[in-house]
Parts: sequence; C-alpha cells; structure tokens
Amino acid sequence: MTHAAMKLKGKTAIVTGAASGIGREIALLYAREGARVAIADLNQTGAEGVAREIEAAGGRAIGVAMDVTSEDAVEQGIETTAKTLGGIDILVSNAGIQIVKSLDQLAYADWRRMIAIHLDGAFLSTRACLRHMYRQGRGGSIIYMGSVHSKLASALKGPYVAAKHGLIGLCRTVAKEGAAHRVRANVICPGFVLTPLVKSQIPELARANGMSEDEVAKKIMLKDTADGEFTTTADVAEAALFFAAFETNALTGQSIIVSHGWHME
Ligand code: NAD
Repeated sequence: MTHAAMKLKGKTAIVTGAASGIGREIALLYAREGARVAIADLNQTGAEGVAREIEAAGGRAIGVAMDVTSEDAVEQGIETTAKTLGGIDILVSNAGIQIVKSLDQLAYADWRRMIAIHLDGAFLSTRACLRHMYRQGRGGSIIYMGSVHSKLASALKGPYVAAKHGLIGLCRTVAKEGAAHRVRANVICPGFVLTPLVKSQIPELARANGMSEDEVAKKIMLKDTADGEFTTTADVAEAALFFAAFETNALTGQSIIVSHGWHME
C-alpha cells in the first residue's frame, strides 16, 4: 500500500484488549493503514507479542500492560501511549470478558466484575483519552466494542447485556460533549465471532441447554442470522477502520451492527 492510500497515516490509536481476538485484528489493520498503535491489555506478554508482530511488518507499535478497571493503570497506560507515540487520535475501548450464568445463580462479585471491565473500563479509557484529545485540539474518534447484546437480550447473559446496552448511553454522551472538540464516538455491535471469549462459553451453553456444542453454534448462536455464518474478526476490524477514518461529526453517536443480519434495525 502506498503511504498516500493509507487511511490512518499519522494517527495514533490505542486499542484495549488488543492481545487477542477482535482487538488484535483491529490493531493489525490500523497499523497496516499507517497508524501508530498501542496494544493495551491485561496480558502484557500477549500485548508485547502483537506489538512485535506489527513492528516486524514495518509498522510502529508498543505493548502496554493495562487493566482497564484500574484508574491508575489506565491513566499511566494512556499517558505512556501519548508520550511515546505522539498524542492520541483514536481509542478503541474493546477489552471484555463473558460470564454465562442465570441471574438467580449469579454471584454479586461476578456482576461487579462484568460492570467494572465493560463500563468502568470504558469510562476510564474514555476520560483519559478525551483529556488528551481536547488538549491536542485535532479532534478524535472513540469507538466502543458493543455487541448485538447492546440491542437485545439473551438468557444467561444479564450483566453482559446490561453493560453492552450501557455503552450506547456512554457513546451518545461522548458524542454530545465531544462535538465541540471534533471528537466523535460510535459503537460497533458484532454478532458471534469465534474468539477465545466465545469458544469458552460454548460448553456452558451446551450444558445449560442439553445440546451438543455443534448444536449450540447452529441452534442458538447463529439461529437468527441471514446465512448461518459467524462474523469474523476481519469484518469487525473493517467497521472499526471506517469509524476511525471518518473525519467529521456527521457520523457520531451511532451504533452499527455487524452480525450477518442476526439483528436488523
Ligand atoms: P478475547 O477474549 O479474544 O479478547 C479479549 C481481550 O481483553 C483479552 O486479550 C484479555 O486479556 C483482555 N482483557 C480482559 N480483561 C481485561 C482488563 N480488565 N483490562 C485489559 N484487558 C483485558 O475476546 P474478543 O471476542 O476479542 O472480545 C473483545 C470485545 O468484543 C469484548 O468487549 C467483547 O464483549 C466484544 N464482543 C465479542 C463478540 C464475540 O462474539 N467474540 C461479539 C460481540 C462483542
């Protein structure tokens, strides 16, 4: 790709939860499109591995050890990113986990852990990046990794559904407050993607529903898609590139569903 054709040339991005799955794919694509990328993750070794992969391909990246639920870690990680890579233009708030349990069986500690990672993490990352973006005065793009579960509910996923719905509210508020600074905020809502996060919940769903693991994929996860297919990390990364490269406030406060037609609106 020539430099002129790169969509994120000269931009700095931080992607949380980028040691694995969807975040990793977004980081790799952003780097190919010319961005300098911070790979922020709880898993430091994994984050450094992805950064090395980008640098080996001629890009610029750093691994940042960062637990998104820790105010200090997020402040420090984003400060290090801005200092090392030249400010912050794009945040992808993506770190996440899943806990599959019915509400009557759910421990309060598990509820709080889910809300802490998905919502506190998004808030802390947003606040730290907004401060840089406002100070820099060159606009910015904030992208939240929502889910089809930002739009509808499934049994056994109470805290996930609540947190993913919450991200839509946070995004819309950032859109309102950020507009004067040309900071946009949008949400990506993927359907099922076969990452470690999804693979690990298949056995639990199989047990709970008395099905084989194959049936869980076909009869639960992909039942309402238009074509019975899983969404891929590459599909989600393309949507993340679109939001990151869109330069005006015309596209802000929105959510886009990337789910093979599982949910339409
Ligand atoms: P994944 O398990 O492959 O990757 C998640 C990453 O987040 C891991 O590297 C993990 O170390 C990191 N992480 C977890 N807790 C963290 C913390 N406290 N601080 C920093 N990093 C942390 O999962 P994935 O499927 O790529 O999920 C990424 C995001 O996409 C999540 O927000 C998830 O809810 C969302 N999502 C996934 C799917 C799917 O089907 N896989 C669908 C919709 C939305």
